[in-house]
Amino acid sequence: MPSNQNNNKNTQDDLLAMAISNALRLEQVKTGLTDDASDTLDGLSADLLSDLASSGVFDASQAGAIARRLAEFEKDSETSIQAVYKQILKDIRSSLADVAAKQSQLALDQINKVAGFELADSGLDEKALADLVEGALVQGAPIRDWLERQAGQLHQRVLDSVRDSLAKGESRADIAGKLLGQSAKAGAVGDGSLLQAQAQLDTLVRTATAAVANDAKLATYKENDDVVDGMQWVSVLDDRTTEDCEDLDGCVWDLDGEPIGDAPEFPGDPPIHWNCRSTLIPVLKKWSELSKEG
Ligand SMILES: [Zn+2]
Repeated sequence: MPSNQNNNKNTQDDLLAMAISNALRLEQVKTGLTDDASDTLDGLSADLLSDLASSGVFDASQAGAIARRLAEFEKDSETSIQAVYKQILKDIRSSLADVAAKQSQLALDQINKVAGFELADSGLDEKALADLVEGALVQGAPIRDWLERQAGQLHQRVLDSVRDSLAKGESRADIAGKLLGQSAKAGAVGDGSLLQAQAQLDTLVRTATAAVANDAKLATYKENDDVVDGMQWVSVLDDRTTEDCEDLDGCVWDLDGEPIGDAPEFPGDPPIHWNCRSTLIPVLKKWSELSKEG
């Protein structure tokens, strides 16, 4: 048995370095996934404009006809929006299963790199990875629920814009600008239903990726609780770090979330807020404990 003289401090420092470089790589993954989701959402602008044209709501002049055509647009636009968000959910699920697999492997690598040989060997199987993505909570709710909510909000904003334009006697070209945020691009503030939807989606995808990545790591630590004793909070420290995450940086808990040392109550695995970049690294059992059990 190797001695425990390559002390625990070096061990945690190695893990810390791995965690930080992984956190930076994960930011690139998040950017890739938000770009993909954003591209899918982009297709919606053409769908909505086509729904608008086919409803003929801006071509009617009598109140009764406008109301009927508006009701038709309401239905058509809901179908278009639902279809796009369904596609986004499908894509995200498959991408995040991949993220979960990679992060679970990373958790094994973390443990084994420090051990110097294959100490941990229990990864997560395909079913566990899919369940993990399905069950991942982002700010307390599943990804699917957030996407449904965002789709509903977008639909409402689109309808509000159309009604507003009709009330003001604007044309179909005006409403196109409102939906796509062309005026926002030109510097006006708070315009563009689809631009707002893009921003919401971006935040959701980033935070969901962090949730799945951390769930996968924590599940893998728990699978290997014969060698992993606990978990340590690691925050990416820069000018965007929140105060909460700054305070939690370096704190240690056992795998049930019981505080070790002067750690506060475990807040749940990260992310603990939108766009949170914090992560957990394993705290390994000491060699002496392992050899005693071995
Ligand atoms: Zn954070």
